Amino acid sequence: ILIGMLLGILIGLSLQFILGDQQDIVIPLGLFDFPVKNFFVDGLFNIGGQIFIASLKMLVVPLVFISLVCGTCSLSDPKKLGRLGGKSLFLYLVTTAIAITVAISFALIVAPGEGVTIPTDASYEAKQAPSLVDVIIGMFPTNPIDAMASGNMLQVIVFALLFGIAMALSGESGKRVAVLFDDLNNVVLKLVTILMNLAPYGVFCLMAKLFTTIEISIIKSLAKYFCVVVAALLFHAFVNYSLILKILTGLNPLIFLKKMEDACMFAFSTSSSSATMPVTLETATKKLGAKNSVASFTIPLGATINMDGTAIMQGVATVFIAQVYGIDLTIQDYLMVIVTATLASVGTAGVPGVGLIMLAMVLNQVGLPVEGIAIIIGVDRLLDMTRTAVNITGDCMVTCVVAKSEGELNVDTFNDPEAAKQLE
Ligand code: ASP
Repeated sequence: ILIGMLLGILIGLSLQFILGDQQDIVIPLGLFDFPVKNFFVDGLFNIGGQIFIASLKMLVVPLVFISLVCGTCSLSDPKKLGRLGGKSLFLYLVTTAIAITVAISFALIVAPGEGVTIPTDASYEAKQAPSLVDVIIGMFPTNPIDAMASGNMLQVIVFALLFGIAMALSGESGKRVAVLFDDLNNVVLKLVTILMNLAPYGVFCLMAKLFTTIEISIIKSLAKYFCVVVAALLFHAFVNYSLILKILTGLNPLIFLKKMEDACMFAFSTSSSSATMPVTLETATKKLGAKNSVASFTIPLGATINMDGTAIMQGVATVFIAQVYGIDLTIQDYLMVIVTATLASVGTAGVPGVGLIMLAMVLNQVGLPVEGIAIIIGVDRLLDMTRTAVNITGDCMVTCVVAKSEGELNVDTFNDPEAAKQLE
């Protein structure tokens, strides 16, 4: 996967360099002309990348539903479910609040917005962000099939939990259905493994296409903003997660980070925690040793509501935009940003670019101009890739903590460097 990713980036950047200002390079082949960019970038790489993303997304609903039903009905103690929910929710919210606090502190120290001029054509149309009340009401499906069809993960999670609990309470009938779900789970997991074997090619196609078109030059003008976001993301992933994991579980953070590599590459190339979920779940169970009964609950929940990386971008962006527009924010404003961005991440779906939409809500809350988003939108794709990797690392870290506290983490698997090295 790493080779596919690096090769894709290299080929993409080379193509971009060779193309320069031209639309395409056409090689005359006698009988016909061969348009290089059109054939490879818009054709081959595009098709390969899109099919890869579609296949990952295809697995998300069946995987979450089936593994969560299996996980819930295998929990012998009904109180355990409440505890699991409480602990994960608490940790997800606290880690997000820590993330955004780090981000704001970094941004205040470096002051990336000072000296940046407001482009005259800055305009950004803010989309309506859902309110917290809507998010809570919206978690309960009126029609589970509709929830699955539209990929509404919170609703699918709620239905799967209720279904799993009902199965556990249904005696013999529940047991018979559980056998079927266990078999279905194995089949879906096999499908994930098959897809993982194709991942290097998919990742290559995605990277090659993206890096042919991405505007690297734009990063130069926003270098400070870009670097502060990346630095805060790395700090949170390497320092904060390591500390939290070490303090709460005693597990070795280096082993944890090493085992996150593959999943992070998926997240980086797809920019979507939701599409990466099949891989995150495999990583949590097979590599990190969390039992399915915990991971099948915490991972889908995390992919939907836990976005530490996104919150970091929002924290830095808020300070950056305030500085560009010369608006002073008070301590209360910063606290408001922390609370709003933490809650906003609950309602953010794990798909590319959605963090920017939620940023509009945070800016509105403290009275900053939403057009400020137009200034940073150019560099957002690369940051989106990086923050998605942090988002899913946070999901796995919390899963380890919760699983360990419930006695549902196999420490030998966690410590075994060979454990499912290739997730095969
Ligand atoms: N792409 C991010 C994710 O899927 C969300 C975002 O920050 O836009 O986790």
